[in-house]
Amino acid sequence: MYPTYGYAARDAASPLAPFEFQRRDLRELDVRIDVQFCGVCHSDLHQARNEWRNTLYPVVPGHEIVGRVTEVGKGVTRFKVGELVGVGCLVDSCRTCASCAEGLEQYCENGFVGTYNGIDRISGELTYGGYSTQLVVDEAFVLRVPENLDPAGAAPLLCAGITTYSPLRTWGAGPGKKVGIVGLGGLGHMGVKLAHAMGAHVVLFTTSPSKIADGKRLGADEVVISKDPEQMQAHANSFDLIVNTVAAQHDLNPFIELLKRDGTLTLVGAPEHDHPSPQVFNLIFKRRRLAGSLIGGIAETQEMLDFCGQHGITSDIEMIKMQDINHAYERMLKSDVKYRFVIDIDSLRQ
Ligand code: NAP
Ligand code: ZN
Ligand code: ZN
Repeated sequence: MYPTYGYAARDAASPLAPFEFQRRDLRELDVRIDVQFCGVCHSDLHQARNEWRNTLYPVVPGHEIVGRVTEVGKGVTRFKVGELVGVGCLVDSCRTCASCAEGLEQYCENGFVGTYNGIDRISGELTYGGYSTQLVVDEAFVLRVPENLDPAGAAPLLCAGITTYSPLRTWGAGPGKKVGIVGLGGLGHMGVKLAHAMGAHVVLFTTSPSKIADGKRLGADEVVISKDPEQMQAHANSFDLIVNTVAAQHDLNPFIELLKRDGTLTLVGAPEHDHPSPQVFNLIFKRRRLAGSLIGGIAETQEMLDFCGQHGITSDIEMIKMQDINHAYERMLKSDVKYRFVIDIDSLRQ
């Protein structure tokens, strides 16, 4: 067993606080990783505060993890000590169902094992995430991080990156396509960068006028203030795809009206309370689609990391110490982060 230091929430109302625990002894195919950086996803906050009503306490959040391999199990073939690796939202799945067979472990029909708030399939123990000094993970769920990327800026790719990359690929973002990204937060700013790199015409929708210049710098061809009906109307019936990353309940109709015939609005934001049901006629008259998308499978996550390596794409980050996490959560709730907090895990080692 490996003594490990982290931060955990003990219940929905308490702030995160120091928490010591043990990582398991290495199984044959396990890799042990010294965590260097961990991104702060809005899902961490939803989960720490039990906003999805399924949190198992204590919860050690963190699923945007980058670090170096420190030890490998006897049967490990894919990784060596010293390699720069990443772990995202998944650490296991059944590996036999139809979804797993297609490399879509996030849709495992028997339930994937989350990096935190999951139940290990062998020991039955609760999984603990990347707000911690080290991690032990089966090599099948470990990703290779391109060495040319800044490791701190690469950490958010493991969730924010893949969660936007996957729907952009699924619905064919690329040259000649008009793609909207709603919300310029952690996911949204990755969505803008990735859609731009894929060659799409990118329109950012934001509620924050202060983010217009950043939106353009990050790769948006146009920026629309989504609260302004006139600006919205100017884009009616024109989008092939809109990816909605907003973390709070809101009216979807103004976005659905912007889709062309056969266009798709994909929800990736996962708010505590459901959005009101959109108008049916808005969908049926133009055969528009309302869809959802969950992170991405392991193979697609590696594809995304390699794509980012080739295009030099990382997240815009603000580095924090582990001890600052509760303040960072409050700022995230006010959309006051440009554009992802990343925890320097060395702050846990001092
Ligand atoms: P974030 O950094 O807090 O960004 C969310 C953005 O949404 C904000 O920056 C803001 O952008 C906009 N927003 C917030 N409150 C709003 C409101 N009341 N009305 C309109 N816009 C609002 O969060 P994140 O880490 O990107 O995560 C976004 C959501 O995706 C969370 O719910 C998270 O749990 C979920 N998520 C889902 C998946 C998946 O697999 N589907 C994976 C990861 C995360 P503007 O200031 O530009 O308006
Ligand atoms: Zn996440
Ligand atoms: Zn499965």
